[in-house]
Amino acid sequence: MWSGRRVFAVLVPVALGASLLSGAGTYVVRSTVPEAGGQRSSGTQPVVASHAEAVAVTPKRLLPKVPLSTEGSYKFIHRISKTKPVTWDPCRTVKIYVNPANGPSDAVSLVKYGAARLRATTGIDFRYAGQTKKSQKRAMKGARDGVWVGFHTESSDRTLAGATVGYAGDDVDGATKADAKYYKGAVVLESETFKTLRAYRQTSIARAIVMHEFGHIAGLDHVNDPHQLMYPETTRDQLTYGGGDLRGLALLGRGTCRTSV
Ligand SMILES: [Zn+2]
Repeated sequence: MWSGRRVFAVLVPVALGASLLSGAGTYVVRSTVPEAGGQRSSGTQPVVASHAEAVAVTPKRLLPKVPLSTEGSYKFIHRISKTKPVTWDPCRTVKIYVNPANGPSDAVSLVKYGAARLRATTGIDFRYAGQTKKSQKRAMKGARDGVWVGFHTESSDRTLAGATVGYAGDDVDGATKADAKYYKGAVVLESETFKTLRAYRQTSIARAIVMHEFGHIAGLDHVNDPHQLMYPETTRDQLTYGGGDLRGLALLGRGTCRTSV
């Protein structure tokens, strides 16, 4: 079933807690992110093919693996096997673009922040790559190693109906199941929520929602533990990645590199 190009998308909504803008609740912001670094990839040496001019270089990961220094619950969206999740290719840069139309005035800085956190926590070269005027649909056509982030209203995107403030999904492909990789993704954020958060200067909550959706982009699914950012609702009690989130993100950064395009 993995022969040729197979694509499927996943949409995972996040519901915003009703108490979010009430002013009640405690702010517990823990700095649980390990320093990037640790062991380098055990990439193999370049292989020189026996045919005269052809020099095949085994791809190498671009950033060091992130240490597995935290514990907690996490769940992967897609798996290749019982223990192996589908991941992005750690040998490639993943460019993150934002279409700021209909978004809050801090749309670009929110996406830059989310991209930097994703890069630091996965060891995959997620990189903010600038603004785009493309719609989600146009951006997704033929996209590769890219993530589109944009804003919609409940009326322009029915997936955002009700309490949902954002959703995210990736497409997967691979010549074989073992080589299945994420290769493009999209994050849709709800305009009015983000404009309201901006008006009330609730940057930490806006960032938390972006980080949650970017967690889906990396490959994390929801968990039932409210002390993880991948809990389905974003609350003031958990505004940054928790121990389980961080472990899952670090593992999602340890996939193999594609050996063929
Ligand atoms: Zn979610």
